[in-house]
Amino acid sequence: MKFLLWAGLIAAVIWVLRSKKKSSPAAPSPAPSSAKREIEVMLRCADCGTHFPASEAVFDASNTAYCSSEHRQRHAVH
Ligand SMILES: [Zn+2]
Repeated sequence: MKFLLWAGLIAAVIWVLRSKKKSSPAAPSPAPSSAKREIEVMLRCADCGTHFPASEAVFDASNTAYCSSEHRQRHAVH
């Protein structure tokens, strides 16, 4: 029976630690990451016209989206 008590105590400690971790405001983004992963917003590169996920986007000063920093620089030269 002692083993069951210890197992319960350890489980309780783990549960408390987990709930503490969840409540801590570690994530800088206000949007929930789980929903963001499921519905990925697609953007169009202003330089080459390729569609790519918004999480990989590179923005310039005027908030224009590019597929890579290379294309952002290339577009700025034009
Ligand atoms: Zn591009």
